[in-house]
Amino acid sequence: MSEAITNNPGEIVVCDACPVLCRIRPGKTGACDRYANVAGVLTRTDPMVLAEASDVVVPFLGEEWDGNPVPDAPTFLTGIGSGTTYPDYKPAPFIVASRHRGVDVITVVTEAIFSYCGVKVKIDTDRYVGPEQAAVRAAGEQVGHVTTAEYGSQMLALGGVRHLTGGSKKEGTVTCDTLLALCNKQAVDLTVDGGAALTVQAGAAPIVDGMREERMRVGCGSATIGMFAQQWHGHVDEVIVVDDHITGVLSEHQAGRFLGLQPAGIRVRGHKSTPGRYFRVAEPGTGWGGTDITDPLTIIERIDAKMAKPGMRLLMVSTTGADAEYFILDDQLKPMKAAMPEPVRHVVDRIGENCEPALASVLFMAGAGGSLRAGVTENPVRLTRSVKDALVRVTSGGAPVYVWPGGGITFMVDVMAMPASAHSLAAPLAARLDLRSR
Ligand code: SF4
Repeated sequence: MSEAITNNPGEIVVCDACPVLCRIRPGKTGACDRYANVAGVLTRTDPMVLAEASDVVVPFLGEEWDGNPVPDAPTFLTGIGSGTTYPDYKPAPFIVASRHRGVDVITVVTEAIFSYCGVKVKIDTDRYVGPEQAAVRAAGEQVGHVTTAEYGSQMLALGGVRHLTGGSKKEGTVTCDTLLALCNKQAVDLTVDGGAALTVQAGAAPIVDGMREERMRVGCGSATIGMFAQQWHGHVDEVIVVDDHITGVLSEHQAGRFLGLQPAGIRVRGHKSTPGRYFRVAEPGTGWGGTDITDPLTIIERIDAKMAKPGMRLLMVSTTGADAEYFILDDQLKPMKAAMPEPVRHVVDRIGENCEPALASVLFMAGAGGSLRAGVTENPVRLTRSVKDALVRVTSGGAPVYVWPGGGITFMVDVMAMPASAHSLAAPLAARLDLRSR
């Protein structure tokens, strides 16, 4: 615990760390639980967190090892537990000089209170979570929305100033609770209007409508054809990789043509983009390849008797290999389900082997271009410029951040790289600024 303001034991102390100005009784904490009245002393309730760099190479030969796994590793302060005022009308609570590899370093740490903050959640799944722009809710309150999907992942944008402070008190409270849980690596239950029920937790497999996602797809349907065409060649006459984005058809695809295949005459539904690549073969859903289908034959529009032949071997597979069925065309060119030959099964299994484990990832995003800078400089814009000029390195709870180009100090950080409980109710971020002098 760190001491801030002294007072007489038994008296109420007034916390001046933020404009709420809590009057805290002896033995009690303020509204945010970060400050307490301990025997008349205003006290920060969380410990100050120190970290040690672990990127130091340990000498193995040539000298005696003293047993220290990270000899001479610099110990550095993180902002976690350091305290702050909001706005920063007082100097940052810790401004520490040190020397690292011959370079003078000044480390400034402060906790930071962000109204303009949120998280981006990446959910590795092809399953449909809901329409783009749909409201995402926690406990019935809107806390964000579905944003543009990425390759193999659905994306949510949660938090932000509109939900934190622009709506009802309950909306703000629930949004803050949701961000806090996600940033501290806890699981949260969410629902999407017109979409799925989700359970997401940083670093854990996402759960979509009660189904735990196991695999992130190996690629889109077209990419899957490209990757495995050679390995299917000779074992099947046609492969259709079912995908909500781009369904691939081997014999029409450039990868099949490269192998000398002729179109097999099995025409799938949807819009043909380029040869062997089809959009919208079905509606989005939680079935095969992120579509709503459970029977793959429903995406076959027709089979052309001029090209298809009885006995043709057809594999239909999803982009994760989790769903796969093998057919042989009968005398009427009707696909009949058959036992999958071992060489075909081997390639289907290889699709699964090449899928990475599906995870939910949470990136905290905030803008630190406001009063936070005043805790360390009289001319705040020069700190921003120093960050842009790479003279000042910004970390968050000791973790590396990505600082966006453009105005302000708007950054993103992977919450999995941050220490446990790095975020607290009134201080969603503990920031660390390293100022390197030359
Ligand atoms: S920092 Fe916390 S305890 Fe202090 S005044 Fe603000 S809400 Fe109250």
